[in-house]
Amino acid sequence: MAVPLMQAVRVGAYVVKQHLSGRKRYPLVLMLEPLFRCNLACAGCGKIDYPAPILNQRLSVQECLDADTECGAPVIAVAGGEPLLHKEMPQIISGLLARKKYVYLCTNALLLEKKMDDYQPHPYFSWDVHLDGDQTMHDQSVCQDGVFDRAVSAIKKAKARGFRVSINCTLFDGADPKRVADFFDEVMAMGVDGIMTAPGYAYERAPDQAHFLNRQKTKQLFRDIFRYGKGKKWKFTQSPLFLNFLAGNETYHCTPWGKPLRNVFGWQRPCYLLGEGYASSFKELMDDTAWEQYGTGNYEKCADCMVHSGYESTAVMDAVKRPLHILKVALKGPQTEGEMAPEISLANQRPAEYVFSKHVEEAMEEIKARKPAKAPVVKRVASETADAAD
Ligand code: SF4
Repeated sequence: MAVPLMQAVRVGAYVVKQHLSGRKRYPLVLMLEPLFRCNLACAGCGKIDYPAPILNQRLSVQECLDADTECGAPVIAVAGGEPLLHKEMPQIISGLLARKKYVYLCTNALLLEKKMDDYQPHPYFSWDVHLDGDQTMHDQSVCQDGVFDRAVSAIKKAKARGFRVSINCTLFDGADPKRVADFFDEVMAMGVDGIMTAPGYAYERAPDQAHFLNRQKTKQLFRDIFRYGKGKKWKFTQSPLFLNFLAGNETYHCTPWGKPLRNVFGWQRPCYLLGEGYASSFKELMDDTAWEQYGTGNYEKCADCMVHSGYESTAVMDAVKRPLHILKVALKGPQTEGEMAPEISLANQRPAEYVFSKHVEEAMEEIKARKPAKAPVVKRVASETADAAD
């Protein structure tokens, strides 16, 4: 099983409890971004295009634990930026584990071998290593040669030390289904515990805007990949219904509050992918966000989104409502032939609003007010050396 049985049982019990209590919106996974700074500058990344004073901001250990207290989700994914650049990351992880949270530490693995001894294998802990395909695909995706080999070396070392390790594979336009299928075979042979996969979200701040998949291409790509996977024992960390959605067999609306994001700006509205505003508390995020303004069919920036951070929660909640359906998909795998499920109409979506610059200006003003002695140096994100830490 890609997800430990105990984790599946606890998350399932949590979801059923929320349903029975009649709670309309609830989180499944807390997304924590304790920093934006990264040691790579990937072509499809829309998370790191900030001036240096913002990249230098960090959530403290206490702020991360407070985010968990506010949110209460059973699973926490720590992302960024590159989390291993955060000096207090071992304390953040041990603090969350002490609260019996299932923690995924997302990393590009460039610092993993160097920092591995700061962490201990734990039944609730997993490394989640970014790998966007085989050596050529991944190094091209992260715009740097040699990254795939370093990540694979770190994965093997982590497995040898007894850690759980999953991989996070984001796919873009032009991905060859056979090569992706061969890559999934390769990582399974390496002994990884699970694969998480999704199409890249079309971040407006990503340097490469030409290779994001639209919905039709996404569905066809995943159908083709899953067809190669028939009869194989690929282990995914995602719900079978989310995979069925990727393959075009479910008409789902996103659940942006299912994976709420806390970063150095606050609680991001409306979701992990889109930063249209920030709330100062989790309650404010849940209560005061105009959720109906977002999602495919409602907002132009959501038109092609099929990412797990928006739809995995929808799939999990659907599983509670339709247990026989998930059982069938789990046994047979995602459907790869026949007509696809109807698509959501985009006829009435509202046009995109561009608010990034305003948020950056506000954040810079706030930082300046905190540190009046030093004028901020505004510059475009540049990659740092792989071994830089803080
Ligand atoms: S479709 Fe949903 S999850 Fe995707 S970007 Fe829009 S609000 Fe976020």
